[in-house]
Formats: sequence, structure tokens, C-alpha cells
Amino acid sequence: MNLVNCDQCKKNFPIQPKEKKHGQGIKETYFVCTHCKTRYTAYVTDQEVRRMQRQIQKLEKESLFTKDNNKRLVLYSKVNRLKEEVLKRMNELKEQVSKR
Ligand SMILES: [Zn+2]
Repeated sequence: MNLVNCDQCKKNFPIQPKEKKHGQGIKETYFVCTHCKTRYTAYVTDQEVRRMQRQIQKLEKESLFTKDNNKRLVLYSKVNRLKEEVLKRMNELKEQVSKR
């Protein structure tokens, strides 16, 4: 099992991810310390993030099967750009959710 150390009580606890819906397609994945009940947000996604993640998977698959090196490079740079956007948006969403 995956153990993490709690920032609050300094004890180790197993990660058991839970999901919470925040409306407007926003889904938060979080886990709670089993000792002191401190809540940790793992990540937050919305429809746009999930759309980009599907796009990334599609492009990565495409780049695996292409024999054209130039095309592969183009696909790689698209994937990297999308990944950056996903990270940025997930950080924004995380901030939004933590303010509620
Ligand atoms: Zn704790």
C-alpha cells in the first residue's frame, strides 16, 4: 500500500483517494489522514482538463505508431504543450476549490 507522511501529525497513513464533485464538471480527488483527518487535495479536473488529457492520450498513441520521425516530433511538441496547459489549469482549479 502507498503510505504518505502527514504534514500535520507527522504520522504515516495509506492514501485512499476519494472523489468530490464541485459542480460545473469540476471533480476533486482528495485523501484524508487516517489519524488527524487533515484533508489533502491530490488534483482537480474539469471538463476542459479531461478533454485535454484524452487528447494527450490520443496523440501519444499516434506518436507510438508513426514511422515518420518528423511527425513524431510534431506530436511530441503538441503533447508537451498540452501537458503544460493541463498542469496550469489543474493548479488554477485546485486554488479555486481550496477557497470554497
Ligand atoms: Zn495527520
